[in-house]
Amino acid sequence: MALKLLVLPGDGIGPEIVRTAETALSALDARFGLGIELARRDIGFDALAKDGITWNAATEDACRAADGVIMGPTDTAAYPPPEEGGVGPSASARKNLDLFANIRPSRSAPGAPALKPGVDLVIVRENTEGFYADRNMALGHGEFMPTTDMALAVRRVTRQASARIAHVAFEMASRRRKRVTVVHKANVLKMTCGLFLETAEDVGKAYPDVEVDECHVDAMASDLVRKPESFDIVLCSNMYGDILSNLAAEVTGGLGLAGSLNRGDDVSLAQAAHGSAPDIAGRGVANPGSILRSTAMLLADLGARRSDNALAAAAAALDQGLDAMLADAKTRTADLGGALATAAFGDALAERLAAGDAG
Ligand code: NAD
Repeated sequence: MALKLLVLPGDGIGPEIVRTAETALSALDARFGLGIELARRDIGFDALAKDGITWNAATEDACRAADGVIMGPTDTAAYPPPEEGGVGPSASARKNLDLFANIRPSRSAPGAPALKPGVDLVIVRENTEGFYADRNMALGHGEFMPTTDMALAVRRVTRQASARIAHVAFEMASRRRKRVTVVHKANVLKMTCGLFLETAEDVGKAYPDVEVDECHVDAMASDLVRKPESFDIVLCSNMYGDILSNLAAEVTGGLGLAGSLNRGDDVSLAQAAHGSAPDIAGRGVANPGSILRSTAMLLADLGARRSDNALAAAAAALDQGLDAMLADAKTRTADLGGALATAAFGDALAERLAAGDAG
């Protein structure tokens, strides 16, 4: 059976790191016979130059038609206003394709530089509502200015969205170390955070083998530095998950290793957790570990959706190959103190994958 993957390179370092994912996929395809068919579409500034818009409905249709999507980061902050074609690709994909779960693992890879060893946690982040003004309204925008001296933002939290992300967290925990920590600030945001927490605890009753505890978001910021190894699944509303996942990424080696999967009922989209890194774009020094880890997550997810052992094996091989690259100081990129360029990292990894050499 063919595996149709859609690649959306994005802006800044996006095309540089996404290219390494394509190289890795071609090595995995040759080794595991995955039948991969890669298609590409422009998003971001390339699409703006060609089509006058950074993200459009045809791209959404192509995402729906594909078996899986790999999306590079986009330089959303630099886009022109929507009426001039600057539409946020991440927000549009998450909202319009209903990619409600953002899965962001942080693991200290053996031998790789990390602030703390022994960390293996996953931030499960609600992806469609919260404070995110660009996606939390059916019509209109969740941020507005009644006067030039006053700005207001609406935070949306629903029982339905809180419940479905909680199910993702508890199901994942039941396959791991069986612990969910719910992050909130219900002492202050009593209704919104209160509803998120209450719903998560209700959902947890259906998973009696999973231990559940809760933590204020400010305390969690300290605990992720002080004792990150103690966490398994960390369940967060949208903005808390966004912020805490960057923190967890730094604890386990840096943003350059921060992979993530955006998942809905029908579409799975691999996406690095970081942005387009304009400060290093075009220099060929970005760490592609993030998008490679995300690609491994996508393959594992598609393997589970299709009950396909070859995809599961390819995902594990990619993870192990990446671990082996990080464990060796000679095969690290500049952000981790190494000298390997992005493309050279991709080529060396592909060689390992083709040879079946994880160690
Ligand atoms: P950023 O994540 O792009 O960069 C933060 C820092 O991390 C920079 O110093 C950068 O060089 C470094 N970094 C990030 N990825 C790296 C990698 N793979 N290898 C080595 N170093 C890496 O955050 P920012 O600078 O605040 O945002 C830049 C742009 O990205 C903005 O337009 C923002 O809106 C956008 N953004 C997009 C996404 C997305 O597409 N999902 C996410 C976050 C930010």
